[in-house]
Amino acid sequence: MQYRRFGRTEMRVSVFSLGLMRYMSDDPDVSAAVVHRAVEAGINHLETARGYGTSEELLGRALKGIDRGSVYLTTKARPRDTYDAFMKEFETSMAALGVDYLDNFGLHGINNEQVFRQATDERQTWRAIRRLMDAGTIRHIGFSTHGKTPLLLRTLDTGMFESINLHYYWFYQTHEPVVARAAELDIGVFIISPNDKGGMLYKPTEKLRKLASPFHPMNLNARWLLSDPRVHTLSLGAAVPGDLDQHLAVADRAGPLDDHERAALERWERTCREALGTDFCTQCQRCLPCPESIDIPELLRLRNAAVAFGMTDYGTYRYNLLDGSNDWFHGTTGDRCTECGECLHRCPEKLDIPKLLFDTHDLLKTGTGQRLWA
Ligand code: SF4
Ligand code: SF4
Repeated sequence: MQYRRFGRTEMRVSVFSLGLMRYMSDDPDVSAAVVHRAVEAGINHLETARGYGTSEELLGRALKGIDRGSVYLTTKARPRDTYDAFMKEFETSMAALGVDYLDNFGLHGINNEQVFRQATDERQTWRAIRRLMDAGTIRHIGFSTHGKTPLLLRTLDTGMFESINLHYYWFYQTHEPVVARAAELDIGVFIISPNDKGGMLYKPTEKLRKLASPFHPMNLNARWLLSDPRVHTLSLGAAVPGDLDQHLAVADRAGPLDDHERAALERWERTCREALGTDFCTQCQRCLPCPESIDIPELLRLRNAAVAFGMTDYGTYRYNLLDGSNDWFHGTTGDRCTECGECLHRCPEKLDIPKLLFDTHDLLKTGTGQRLWA
């Protein structure tokens, strides 16, 4: 297992962190076995959140068999409108975990302007954070986010946070300027769920797998991330201890990409461009904003992956989260395009954006698209 300095926190974290969100078994014995196996394998960063169902309780039980000083523990909770509401939430987490300090605490989901304001309100949530840090109950403070690049940059530039937990993968490189800024500010960079949100790489399409060969797509994506010294640790999930093995195959490899890895990534890139042809969206973001709040680059990113690699399951999974019901997923679906044409002159690739958005909707909402590329 390789370890990296987690930015200015000075924590030396393993390059893989055990994320206890979606894969945690409800069986306490199984979840404890996962945690213990991870620790035995050298993972020293365990991460959960108040919002992950019974995860904190299960992790608390698993921690009973582990030397507290041998692991870094992160939990997260959403900012609140009042000091008291935040403190109540925080105390619930601490009781569930059964610990008296956290190595790292994340303000969970600084996803939009409203949550940013809640998180940084010096009279409410931030006052609570400062008090907890002064008391040594929280040793380091970070934030997690599903927000857009400008908001992430702004949050980093407040100088209030020591680490960021964000989406950044081979299949989603939009936040590269955030990773660059975090490095300039010496902020720890922790990648959210690279195997699930990064492309459902634990069950890759046959095409993606063949193009990645001899590597597993999960390992190739992890190597792409970890060959970048600005990235410090990647979250991984496991339902049973054996799930960890595939991930940990690259846990000792932290150097630059070798020729074979580079060649496999070039095959992904080339295939994507060739399959999309003149419909390839470069993700430059210049088409935004859309008056209908359509996140054009994100929808076309999903279309790129579906068309090039057959990743319709992944695209459908992400696309159908765009129901406008919460701040974790931004924008509306492609069928809301009014064909106003405002985005067209901003696209350097001269894409027929409305046509591609309608096709994306057909493909990922109903499964009937393909008319543009069959
Ligand atoms: S044409 Fe469609 S996608 Fe483009 S700005 Fe108008 S509504 Fe948005
Ligand atoms: S401007 Fe064009 S190429 Fe750039 S993100 Fe928007 S649709 Fe894609």
